[in-house]
Amino acid sequence: MIEPERAARLTLLALRSGVPSRLDFRPDVVRLGHNGQVVSLQDAVDDLAQRPKPLACYADVAGGVLALEFPTRIFQLSARPRGTLDEWYIERYGSDFRQRAVLCMGRFEWMIATFEELESWEAEYPVLGKTGYSGNPFTGSEDVPEDALSAARRAGAVHICDFRRRNANEREDTTGRIFIARREPPDVAGSCVQCRERPARFVIEWFAGEFPRRALCQRCIDDELSPGEFDMGRSLDRERVERAAAERTKSPDELARMAEWDAIFWALRPTPPFIREFIDQYRP
Ligand SMILES: [Zn+2]
Repeated sequence: MIEPERAARLTLLALRSGVPSRLDFRPDVVRLGHNGQVVSLQDAVDDLAQRPKPLACYADVAGGVLALEFPTRIFQLSARPRGTLDEWYIERYGSDFRQRAVLCMGRFEWMIATFEELESWEAEYPVLGKTGYSGNPFTGSEDVPEDALSAARRAGAVHICDFRRRNANEREDTTGRIFIARREPPDVAGSCVQCRERPARFVIEWFAGEFPRRALCQRCIDDELSPGEFDMGRSLDRERVERAAAERTKSPDELARMAEWDAIFWALRPTPPFIREFIDQYRP
């Protein structure tokens, strides 16, 4: 079990910590839903605490304010089944590990909880999108503020769940900013702007026109982009075409569902303008 207010605090800690550092937001307030009110952190805690559980939620940032979003329909949630890590924990912390203390470290705040509380929290708040933590045995040599360190020691913490976002793994230079069209047939040999040897097979364009469009051969585009960036750029080229068709053929409910899914996927990411418009128009 976890007290409703503590669970709500942990949710705010997790969501606030998951925001990439390139996105600035006011640390003292939260918006409750994209059409909702801006309230203090304490009011947000009270609001979360009284909502029915389980409560699926995620965060986005708009206008310099963190928005808590609550999807209106059920999407497949990837919540970890209860007890998945029991064996690992028992081995390290003993069979009574659920009563042991864990330091939950966020970007702006920290909290000491038991494993049991964490387990209840995960069941009550299936948090979607860009968040998560890395869990490790607590050694006392972690990069955490002094007050968190001494509180964790006093509580006999054996474990740390670090919710702070690791920006080193972010690769968002191009995600949502470019689309890649295929040249059929490829241009003539030497038309790749990079190597000037091979035929150009793809054209990279920036939605916001930040850089000029460039025609590249297969090898040069593979050198420049990760497989994930390439796939995303290609899929956004197809989506540009398919969205227009969807608006003509899909029912209002299907469009609302698509828009809500887009809102979850693109939260906290640079969002292509046509998808931003789609979300704004059709999201419930
Ligand atoms: Zn080339």
